[in-house]
This record gives sequence, C-alpha cells and structure tokens, in this order.
Amino acid sequence: MLTDLHVHSNNSPDADSSVIEDCVSALEKHIGILAITDHCEIECFEKENYERAIKQSFFDVLRAKDVFAGRLEILQGIELGNMLSDLPKAKEVVHARPYDFVLGSLHCLKGMQDFYFLDYNKQEPKKLLATYFDEIEQMVDEGGFDVLAHLTYPLRYMNGEYHQNIDIKQYKEPITRIFKKIIQKGIGLEINTSGLRQAYGHCLPGLWTVSLYHDLGGEIITVGSDAHEKTQVGMHIFDGLRLAQKAGFSVVHVFRARKPFPVPIAL
Ligand SMILES: [Zn+2]
Ligand SMILES: [Zn+2]
Repeated sequence: MLTDLHVHSNNSPDADSSVIEDCVSALEKHIGILAITDHCEIECFEKENYERAIKQSFFDVLRAKDVFAGRLEILQGIELGNMLSDLPKAKEVVHARPYDFVLGSLHCLKGMQDFYFLDYNKQEPKKLLATYFDEIEQMVDEGGFDVLAHLTYPLRYMNGEYHQNIDIKQYKEPITRIFKKIIQKGIGLEINTSGLRQAYGHCLPGLWTVSLYHDLGGEIITVGSDAHEKTQVGMHIFDGLRLAQKAGFSVVHVFRARKPFPVPIAL
C-alpha cells in the first residue's frame, strides 16, 4: 500500500490542480491513501483570506471521498504554516473542522519572508538556521499538530539554489532536542520527497537526520510528495520509503481522526 500524505490542491495559492485531478493522478500511480493538505499560513490568515480557502478544501475533499469511495482513501488534512505568529488562531483553525491529519510547518522566521524569497548572498545562512531550529523547537513546545513537515526546509534554497554546502550534522544538538520532544509528545516526522525534484536533490530531511530520529526512539514517520500539481502526486514516494527503510523503519504511518496507523513498507 503506497501513501502520499502531503498534497496540495488549487485551494492553496501556489498550487494548480483540483482535488479531483490530484485523486485521479494518485490512482494512476497506485497510491492507496492520500492526504490533501492545503496551506493555511497563520501569519497572513486574514490578509490572504485563508478561511475561504481551507473551507473550500475541506468541502472538495468531502466530495472526492464520495467520488472515489472504495478506490482511494482520502484523508482530510491541512498544512498549518507559521503557527507561532498567532497561536490562538492556529488552535481555532485546527479545531474548526474534523481533520484527519495536521502538518506543522515553518516556512518563515518570525517577522521575515518565506525562506523561498530570501537572498542567501545577503543573509548569514548559519544564523538563519540556528533561529530556524529555535523556532521549530518553540513550535514543538506548543504542539497541536500531528507531524513535523519538511524539517530542514531552508536547505532546499541554501544548498539547492545557492550552493552553500551547509552540513546538517553541525545542528545535531538542536535537532536532537527537537526529536526528543516530538517523540515524547507523540508527534511524527515527515519525509518530504519534494527536494528530489528540485535543485536540492535530497529528501527533507535526509537520511542522516531521519536515522537520528530512529536511533533516538522515533517511530512515527509519514511520507509526502508535497505535490503542487497533479503530475507531482506520488512523485519519489518510493525514494522516501527506501530512505525510511535505510534509517531503520519497517512501517510508515497514516493518520485518521488525528491518530497514527502503521502501514508496512513493501518495496
Ligand atoms: Zn510546506
Ligand atoms: Zn506543502
């Protein structure tokens, strides 16, 4: 059984395909369980009218569940971005609807733009990364989400686009602290395969980091393509599963009604 637990529909401002198109693509790629996880960026919730988008996403998934019943299991997900900017709002969003699955993401540091927009020739990447792990830890302390999404996200740009060649191992200390906390809280770790189709060329996070999570006693892993259009659904999921296996895992997880269920890795 193949799973893709991170897929965007056109209810995300930066994605193109409808929920139905994503689901058709998932079926073509023999995905058995799919989570639609549209963006909800808390720092610009009012300004960019996310209320309307996440309501529509929820409705589109309800309809798709009906259309694909018996052929594809579709999970009601959401990617909660930058929750530290307004914790009460984040809590309100998550509890407003009966979600199966909540991804916790950090796309920008407090008061800054998305890492996507930064010029790393003008910034100090190491300082940014130290703050990044610091804010991830604060996010974990607050909790309220099921799985930590694309940890090491800034490397997609720092190493991928700007060839900064930053070695993640120098952040072992903060990452260890973060992993100990998510393990204790029952929060899982995502293997996000989007980096494989981009200049970065690696999963987010990569093998060293996922192995560290495993060796510290982490058990809950999800894999997701972070598809932003239908052709990307399920992309590199096998690579993500191979990485999980190499790190020592024999199962990945899906979430139903915010609870993890194991799915054996069969390669
Ligand atoms: Zn994201
Ligand atoms: Zn995403």
